Amino acid sequence: MTQSVVIAGAGHAAGQTVVSLRQKGFDGQIVMVGEEPYPPYQRPPLSKKFLAGEIELERILLRQARYYEDHDIELRLSTRVEAIDREQKRALLGNGDRVPYDHLVIATGSQVRRLDIPGHGLRGVNYLRTVDDVLRIRESFSAGKRLVVIGGGYIGLEVAAVAVTHGLDVTVLEVLDRVMSRVVAPEVSAFFENIHREAGVKIRCGASPAAEFVGRDHVDTVLLGDGQEMPADLVLIGVGIVPNVELAATAGLQCDNGIVVDEFCRSSDPSILAVGDCTNHPNSLLGCRLRLESVHNAQEQAKTAAATLCGDPKPYAQIPWFWSDQYDVKLQIVGLSGDQDEIAVRGDPATRSFAVFYLRDGKLIAVDAINRPREFMLAKKLIAAGAEFSRHALEDSTVGFKQLAANTLA
Ligand code: FAD
Repeated sequence: MTQSVVIAGAGHAAGQTVVSLRQKGFDGQIVMVGEEPYPPYQRPPLSKKFLAGEIELERILLRQARYYEDHDIELRLSTRVEAIDREQKRALLGNGDRVPYDHLVIATGSQVRRLDIPGHGLRGVNYLRTVDDVLRIRESFSAGKRLVVIGGGYIGLEVAAVAVTHGLDVTVLEVLDRVMSRVVAPEVSAFFENIHREAGVKIRCGASPAAEFVGRDHVDTVLLGDGQEMPADLVLIGVGIVPNVELAATAGLQCDNGIVVDEFCRSSDPSILAVGDCTNHPNSLLGCRLRLESVHNAQEQAKTAAATLCGDPKPYAQIPWFWSDQYDVKLQIVGLSGDQDEIAVRGDPATRSFAVFYLRDGKLIAVDAINRPREFMLAKKLIAAGAEFSRHALEDSTVGFKQLAANTLA
């Protein structure tokens, strides 16, 4: 029986793991070790309301600090787990402490992919992953400043939306031919490019890659590979993330684009589990292995790991979902698109409310819902059930979607 659990990392997945452990009645010792100075918090608001200054830190904490005291959870913040001694079953901390465990849960998340080009260390060149990153960005987030966003993915676009709303002069540079091209159909990219342009953001797709950040000690120009110069008071780089696997890899755990775990979140060492962004896990509903970067996955894997640790194992089987907020538009994505052979568009993008359905051999595999919560909610069930549709039926708005879904599921 497990008496002590140590969690490496104190982010979303870690926070949910400890909550689920106590909810399931685990009464052994829990030690959660995180390198950031804050208790577990939600990252999505960092590029949305927290960046906009509309909510403060307390509002984004997963649980208030009292919760951990009240539930006898030892929080060691501003502390890294430097190594794992698997033989002795001890976590080795940055301050020299050695913390014994029966089970260790690795919840180290991911880190931003860095652009190591000349001038990358200049002040004003920013990434966005943590509360501290936002506090730094906010210092120079004022009307009239020129912001160059490198990368037209979710984070870059969410920051662009907040920034232009605050009166900054915003340019987004995307090297590919459309924004969010990795995750959405061209119709959805075109819609988001339009709403940003309408708001005053300069979106430049097919841009030459940034080659250098220029300035004395603070950036003042972004130099592109084709020689163009973009004046900048502030730069935000959002070019993806990489999973934090060093701790696991150094300890000899199997890693392959993430820490390899089974459907119960167990790594190649049965005493060590892993959850969240850092994992490569199987998805029986989709019939493949995945590494996901989403709150839903962090939460659900945490619940799975807690169940495994409490001797009540339940395999992780979830249809992935994700969201992004830009201006008044909520994009909700369910399922995984990419190998569709057909898409159907329901509704008119000009109304700022429509949904794109991705079909493979007539089977629904993913939906992008833009201000369409009903389609999003029903799509979760439809994808899990392997529902089949014709493109015509999906595009026919004279039949309500609830009705269409009910007919299909019947
Ligand atoms: P993290 O939350 O990254 O937590 C990992 C923690 O472990 C970090 O605090 C890290 O510092 C710490 N750590 C790493 N190594 C060590 C070590 N050796 N010792 C101790 N501590 C360590 N997802 C959505 O679904 N919707 C959204 O709208 C959305 N928006 C986002 C916006 C932003 C700006 C960001 C950055 C992310 C967003 N995400 C969104 C993604 C989502 O936040 C992540 O998928 C989620 O936080 C993953 O949780 P995690 O616990 O696996 O990792």
